[in-house]
Amino acid sequence: MAEIVIATKNPGKAREFAQLLAPKGIEVKTLADFAPFEIVENGQTFEENATIKAQAAVDQLGLPVLADDSGLMVDALNGAPGVYSARYAGDHDDDANNAKLLRELAGVPKEKRTAHFHTTIVGLKPNGAKLVTNGEVRGHILTAPQGDQGFGYDPLFFVDELQTGMATLTAEEKNAISHRGRALRAFMDQFTQWWEA
Ligand code: IMP
Repeated sequence: MAEIVIATKNPGKAREFAQLLAPKGIEVKTLADFAPFEIVENGQTFEENATIKAQAAVDQLGLPVLADDSGLMVDALNGAPGVYSARYAGDHDDDANNAKLLRELAGVPKEKRTAHFHTTIVGLKPNGAKLVTNGEVRGHILTAPQGDQGFGYDPLFFVDELQTGMATLTAEEKNAISHRGRALRAFMDQFTQWWEA
């Protein structure tokens, strides 16, 4: 059976991809299935980081790879935390990151708290064939947490098109409008062309 490697160790992400790829008869693996190797994610953009991850895994494993990179961009902070979203205050410390975001936006009025989540997905094959797709969801940053679903900055993100907090949505509701869901659906729309290239 053909294989694809998702360049993540996050089992939740891998499951999302596996659900979409299974009907195509493709076996989904993650980096956790292989011996560890180093990836230095030092890009300045989501696409650079996703490409760095994908290229490192292709070079190491010689298999087709799918990599993604996401983050929150706040207009009043000139796009921060952006590619530093996971390590804005503490490494993958959601509470510390959210507390810092509230501090940085203290006193900023609602109309200036606009923001969006962004995801870039990069597919890369050993023969160099590359597919890049993006997804976004627009909203603004709340002044206090709302909801207890999701992860990361979800409790502070108000989704404009649904007029509710991201962390009030079920996984299915979030997936329908999220940056990652949108990037993933765009990726799957063009998947066969890339896979057969
Ligand atoms: P990743 O590239 O998907 O690992 O995302 C990097 C960081 O961006 C995460 O650690 C979170 O801080 C933030 N982030 C990405 N996607 C989301 C989301 O859907 N909700 C909340 N935070 C997110």
